[in-house]
This record gives sequence, C-alpha cells and structure tokens, in this order.
Amino acid sequence: MTRDMITVLDTTLRDGEQSAGINLNRQDKVDIARMLEQLKVDVIEAGFAASSESDFEAIKAVAREIKDSTVCSLSRAVERDIDLTAEAVRGARSGRIHIVLSTSPVHMRYKLQQAPEAVLEQGVHAVKHARRYSDDIEFSCEDASRSESEFLARIVEAIIAAGVTTVSLPDTVGYAMPPEYGSLIGRLIAQVPNSDKATFSAHCHNDLQVECTINGIGERAGNASLEEIVMAIRTRHDHLEVRTGLETRYLVPASRLVSERTGFVVQPNKAIVGRNAFAHESGIHQDGMLKNPLTYQIMAPETVGGQDYQLVLGKHSGRAGYRARMERLGVRFSSEDALSEAFRRFKKLCDQKLHLDDKDLLATAKKEEEPHVA
Ligand SMILES: [Zn+2]
Repeated sequence: MTRDMITVLDTTLRDGEQSAGINLNRQDKVDIARMLEQLKVDVIEAGFAASSESDFEAIKAVAREIKDSTVCSLSRAVERDIDLTAEAVRGARSGRIHIVLSTSPVHMRYKLQQAPEAVLEQGVHAVKHARRYSDDIEFSCEDASRSESEFLARIVEAIIAAGVTTVSLPDTVGYAMPPEYGSLIGRLIAQVPNSDKATFSAHCHNDLQVECTINGIGERAGNASLEEIVMAIRTRHDHLEVRTGLETRYLVPASRLVSERTGFVVQPNKAIVGRNAFAHESGIHQDGMLKNPLTYQIMAPETVGGQDYQLVLGKHSGRAGYRARMERLGVRFSSEDALSEAFRRFKKLCDQKLHLDDKDLLATAKKEEEPHVA
C-alpha cells in the first residue's frame, strides 16, 4: 500500500451501534456490512463480541458474509474477551482483533484501578495472547488524548514489539483540539523507535479523522462521519495529498440504509447525505447554479450517489430559478411581462404556503401558458 493511501475503518456497527437508543439485529448488521463492502471500506468493525451473545452471533455472520473487507471486533484486554473475539472473526477471509485498554491517568486510576506499570503489562500480555489467533492486531490506547505522553510512548513501543500492527490513539471523549491531536500522533510516530512497524489510526468523536461511522452515529454526540471524511479527502486532494479507495457513489445509499435500520433520521442540512446537501433556494444561488453548478457546489451529487441538485422554490427564490422550474414543468411564458406577473403571484403564494408542489406552481401561470396535455 502506498504512503498516501488512508485506510478507512468503519465502526458504524460497533461505536455507531453504541449510540443511546440504537439496536441492530444480525440481519441489519449483515445488510449494512454488505453495503460497506460495496463502498470498499477497508476494515469493518462489526461489533464487540464479548458484549452479548447476539452481538457475537452477528459478528460471526458478518465475518462469514464479507469477502473484500477485513472484519474486526472490539475486545477488552482480557483473555476471555480475546478468545471470544477470535472465535467470532475466525470465519472471515481477513479477520482482525481490536484490543482496547485505557492509558490516561483518570481511566487507569478510577476505571481500571491499576497502576500504569500493571496496565502496560496487561496490554503486552493481551497482544501476545491475541497473536496466537491472528497477525492482524489493532490496539487502542483508550483516552489517548488525555494520556501522559511519556507513558503513551512507552506502551506504544511495547505493544508494537509484542506484535500490534495498528495503533489507534482515540480522542475517546472528544476533548482534543485538532492541532493538539495532530501533534500527539506526529510526536509519537517520531519518538517511538519501532513506529514504522505499525499503522497509526485516528478515532475521534465528531471531528474530521479516519475511524468513522456512516451518518456520524456513535456515543454521545457521535463519531466522525465517514461520508464527510471521505469527501473532504477527495475534494481537497490538493491540500491533504492523501487518498482513500472508497466507491463514493454508494455514500448516499449507505446513509439511507443505516438511517432506516437505526431509526436515526439524518438532519436535512447534514453535509454530503442530507436532503438539502444539494438543494438551493436562494435566488442568487439558483441563478448561479443555472449558469454553472460549480458556482455553488464543490462536488457533483452523482459522485456520492445522490439525486441531481434541486432548485427548491420558496420565498428566497428569484426569477431565474422560477422560470427554469416552470420550463421543466412545460410552461413557456409569452413575454417578460407575463413572467413578471406570474412571478408576483408565486411570491404571494410563498407567504401563504411553505411547501409548493407542481400543482401550486402551475396555478401561478396563466391559463394560456399552461402546458397542453395531449
Ligand atoms: Zn469511540
């Protein structure tokens, strides 16, 4: 893999499912995983095998079904979890065990109730245990953004030496500022002597990085959203100088499927996949769009599998947008005056009604200008 390729790990089925109020059954997980495979996501995190019998079964089903993406399950750094995880992903063509262990003072002291040295030892032991099952081991230093950098560097070096192939440094609680987070990862790569033996992975909540979920679902305020990251990388390749291998035309279908199965509605103004992401109502914008879509769109809707852009007619619209829409409905105005007169009727109607349908719009044109249906 070349250096400019970003590996995308989608965790819609694990972190996404951890959103309060979401519960995906086995069939939902298999269907969404198939969509993620079509999208060419590199790694699908299918769940947390030890969390429940049903999740274990769902991960197993996903592992059997998926051929092109790596399938992974999260696991605490304890032998029992790792055994279950290995069993769940065993049927995969390419399976990964993803171990998570806290490394921040507040987590080690209050959650794990262990001294840092013991945590380091537990991590190394867990990695060695997991290596008995797979060569593909990811390790997340939970709450990395609030961990002490010296300790973090030591544990990262030790787990890579023990056989970890991907090191994830999550901003678990969404605390780090983007430049801080970038320099945390940069520093570790520079400091840790064996850092070239592993891939470094970023996992943020509600930020622009690379472990992500469809529609940004996840714990609390959600995760970084896959569609935004992938399209930011694609649209600003000039600036970011990296690529992903994703089939972006499946972004909108994937968003719809996840929304339907989770019951989490996508807000209309959501970037890339929201209903309004390619809708234009203001007169100035519509006029620009009719002249050239590049005036107000940085990507074409087809690139992400969406419908063509829409010119929504409402109180902010202007004559150009109104005329174009009416022409699509088959109405040609006999003169500029006729257009002005109809446009005035349209503006008046906008004050009375929020959503205008084709019938309402046709009613703003005079009888003689209406399309003649043969
Ligand atoms: Zn998370």
